[in-house]
Amino acid sequence: MAIERIVDTSTHVDDSEEQQIEVTLRPQRFSEYVGQEHLKKNLKLAIQAAKKRGEPVDHILLYGPPGLGKTTMATVIANEMGSNIRVTAGPAIERAGDLASILTNLADGDILFIDEIHRLARSVEEVLYSAMEDYKLDIVIGKGPAARSVRLDLPKFTVIGATTRAGALAAPLRDRFGMTHRLEFYSSSEIEQIIRRAASLLESKIDPTAAAMLAERARLTPRIANRLLKRVRDYADVNGDGIIDTVIAKEALQMLEVDELGLDPADRRLLGSMIEHYGHNPVGLTTIAALTGDETSTIEDFHEPYLLQIGLIERTPRGRRVTIKAAKHLGKYPQQELL
Ligand code: ADP
Repeated sequence: MAIERIVDTSTHVDDSEEQQIEVTLRPQRFSEYVGQEHLKKNLKLAIQAAKKRGEPVDHILLYGPPGLGKTTMATVIANEMGSNIRVTAGPAIERAGDLASILTNLADGDILFIDEIHRLARSVEEVLYSAMEDYKLDIVIGKGPAARSVRLDLPKFTVIGATTRAGALAAPLRDRFGMTHRLEFYSSSEIEQIIRRAASLLESKIDPTAAAMLAERARLTPRIANRLLKRVRDYADVNGDGIIDTVIAKEALQMLEVDELGLDPADRRLLGSMIEHYGHNPVGLTTIAALTGDETSTIEDFHEPYLLQIGLIERTPRGRRVTIKAAKHLGKYPQQELL
């Protein structure tokens, strides 16, 4: 995507000040991690049990749309276990040798966080299977007839994998995880709590009504909530006295083109062109991607989960379909005969 989207859930943070803010806002313990109560309950139990046995916690797979707190949860688990965490991502581990060097540098009890684990190369995945299963690393030394396979012992470590799509993971890899959990979208009141917490950490004053207004537009996603808060805070610093009240919040959100449902121009364009070309009929994912000029993965990972969650599109066996609610929201009514 060429234009930076305010409601974008991707992590690209190139600014060092922004990076510092990310670090400040990221919850470190369960007590600071808002919401996901079911997940927290399960993890607390698993951590307590592992600690009691003096063993590392089982491998954990976290899945769900971007920005919901998978990486944050991995950090929390490491802190609660008192473990070191090594953070990497599927596409960053290109060869089996790269993984081997990561694994051999781990210590007992360490956590290896692999973001976008569904993007691991097949050859890398295969090395990971046996490493996860029995803490062994099989490597081949030498080439041709002189090549021999060596089995190395690895420390007892924990893999925490994160993915936007559990379905894209190869079954043998999925099976190596002792726990698989889906992160859910947050409720508006949880998002409001996250906004207030972030505002207080950033020493920014925000009216409760303004916090509620931002929460409504944050796509039920903490990363977007924090991002909106930061942009609105900038606006308040430049155009007011730094205090975020409803007037400032409204003006800033208007400038950012984020509407009452948290949709930005890219979402509205997507829904608008679906309505224009297909009315209320189902459309295939590749067709939608062709209509908007996006990658199918962008639609699947970024747009669709939230639009489905709030009922603006629905899935049918023949594709995605825009709902009446979406048509009304955009002020576009599909032709009567298509309803
Ligand atoms: P993911 O890995 O799922 O894409 P992250 O863990 O990077 O998402 O979360 C994005 C940001 O949202 C974090 O930097 C953190 O500040 C904030 N965040 C995520 N989950 C929570 C939460 N439960 N409570 C408070 N803030 C959160």
